[in-house]
Amino acid sequence: MRNVLITGASRGIGKEMVYEFSKNGDRVFLNYNKSGDEADKIAEETGAVSIKADISKSDEVKKMAEFIHNNYGGIDVIVNNAGISQIKLFTDINENDWDMMFDINMKGMFLVTKAFIGDMINKKKGRIINISSMWGITGGSCEVHYSASKAAVIGFTKALAKELGPSNINVNCVAPGVIDTEMNSHLSEEDLEQLKDETPLCRIGSVSDVAKTVLFLASDNADFITGQVLSVDGGMVI
Ligand code: NAP
Repeated sequence: MRNVLITGASRGIGKEMVYEFSKNGDRVFLNYNKSGDEADKIAEETGAVSIKADISKSDEVKKMAEFIHNNYGGIDVIVNNAGISQIKLFTDINENDWDMMFDINMKGMFLVTKAFIGDMINKKKGRIINISSMWGITGGSCEVHYSASKAAVIGFTKALAKELGPSNINVNCVAPGVIDTEMNSHLSEEDLEQLKDETPLCRIGSVSDVAKTVLFLASDNADFITGQVLSVDGGMVI
């Protein structure tokens, strides 16, 4: 049985991944920060182990890693999914906004990966899947800090794939387009219609579209894939 850690799995895309990986027979560790009730409910339904940790805080990540290491012996698949977004004009983004975006979307990924990578290197086996965004590829207006953090995720993925390839660890990245989660709750019906019109496959993505892609990248079918950015966006970015 593989041990799979999914960060930010109390809601949205991460939550769906808990169901997908659990159905697949994996032991899932469901990380969350604020949504404890939701996390407990998912854990109850799936048998996943829920663990609270703010991934931007090194002491909390360390405790999470120690708990998993001491009780379950390490992690085989890391899905770095936790993230925040914010819509703001560049001129309104303050230093606190900037730091929070990078602390969660980028530093969190660094801390979590570093905390678990030792076991993978020792075993010479592992999968790391990082969630970026189409805005990390194209840049999104009024989301400069979000776009920059998601572009950083792509650079992180490619560099780490080169470094960890000889240890038989595959590192890939998924770049979702517009997915139906709370992160997009600010969009009006009109905005959503316009986004559908701009998408070759004429719809908004579902959490399942992304979760199934991540499951594929974690599977044996993706053995020879590393350092890639796989877009799950209905063709929005071609
Ligand atoms: P969401 O519905 O807003 O859920 C975000 C998740 O991240 C929650 O489970 C939240 O947990 C967790 N989280 C936030 N800060 C955290 C922290 N400091 N430590 C641990 N967990 C934290 O977002 P989503 O739409 O599912 O997005 C998931 C990922 O996909 C993000 O990286 C996002 O940037 C990316 N993405 C989303 C879209 C989209 O259209 N939705 C498109 C492209 C990329 P708590 O509630 O427990 O704090």
